[in-house]
Amino acid sequence: ERLVGASADREDQAVEAALRPKDLGEFIGQEKVREQLDLVLRAARARGATADHVLLSGAPGLGKTTLSMIIAAEMGAPIRITSGPAIQHAGDLAAILSSLQEGEVLFLDEIHRMSRPAEEMLYMAMEDFRVDVIVGKGPGATAIPLELPPFTLVGATTRAGLLPPPLRDRFGFTAHMEFYEPAELQRVIHRSAGLLDVEIEPDGAAEIAGRSRGTPRIANRLLRRVRDYAQVKADGLITREIAAAALAVYEVDARGLDRLDRAVLEALLKLFGGGPVGLSTLAVAVGEERETVEEVAEPFLVREGLLARTPRGRVATPAAWAHLGLTPPGSQAA
Ligand code: ATP
Repeated sequence: ERLVGASADREDQAVEAALRPKDLGEFIGQEKVREQLDLVLRAARARGATADHVLLSGAPGLGKTTLSMIIAAEMGAPIRITSGPAIQHAGDLAAILSSLQEGEVLFLDEIHRMSRPAEEMLYMAMEDFRVDVIVGKGPGATAIPLELPPFTLVGATTRAGLLPPPLRDRFGFTAHMEFYEPAELQRVIHRSAGLLDVEIEPDGAAEIAGRSRGTPRIANRLLRRVRDYAQVKADGLITREIAAAALAVYEVDARGLDRLDRAVLEALLKLFGGGPVGLSTLAVAVGEERETVEEVAEPFLVREGLLARTPRGRVATPAAWAHLGLTPPGSQAA
């Protein structure tokens, strides 16, 4: 597992429950989403109705699961958590849907990875609170209609564009979650430090925030590693210097790049003069698989404006040269 990877590792899973904001007021950042969701939920409560289905899209670790739990808490409803890949057959979904209580929130993570028959069953369930359960096989098969209690589906996906339009259209409210600003992550870190009983100075939190790739999950993980360092090497207090020294040990640089990211950039700059160079060549140069370079390292480098994918190959941007403290060939040294 990478220290700056966005998906949850074992330790994240163990501590995240304790760090999750419990209501919309505690949820940091995502102002527009929070404001809109607040209206949706208040209105539903005032009508005494179940909230509309909600689709949350955004990268891993931005708080989709957290938000689904908040929706349930704000509605005073229980929540059931499952994911697209866990639903292989329509029957799996029918079993879950038919056991929901009235008003329950069903959180369906990675909703774009559900099987086709399950997806079709979901259309009807979302719209009419009804499913047809097929009993038997072949010509003798019959559809038995089953009424469902009203429920709120909260679907999560990394990209709303991955969903077939008929599914997307059945959500009453769609929220796109953005990467967090450093100032917001700084607040996330302060809040988590308080809950973990860790002493941290504002500058220390800012230092961690700047290396957290816009992602609260990564911010919380880096905080824990910096806390370890502060306990072992100092008196426990996290200052800017302690945070920077700790993250240097873990090879997470000032911009949140780790060893792999830097290796890719360095090869591109030092061996290929900044490109363009083909993906396979670049991968061989860093001793990694093509897929690792393309799927693990590049997305963040592209997002940060350090690397561009062009039809002729990978190209470094001026920001990449500056970040590694190198001078592009042909340019005058200042
Ligand atoms: P995945 O897609 O991988 O399931 P996710 O988007 O569902 O990720 P969460 O599990 O909700 O992400 O959040 C990851 C961690 O980040 C949690 O521990 C949560 O406490 C923290 N977190 C997320 N968003 C916020 C926020 N807005 N304020 C404070 N903490 C947050």
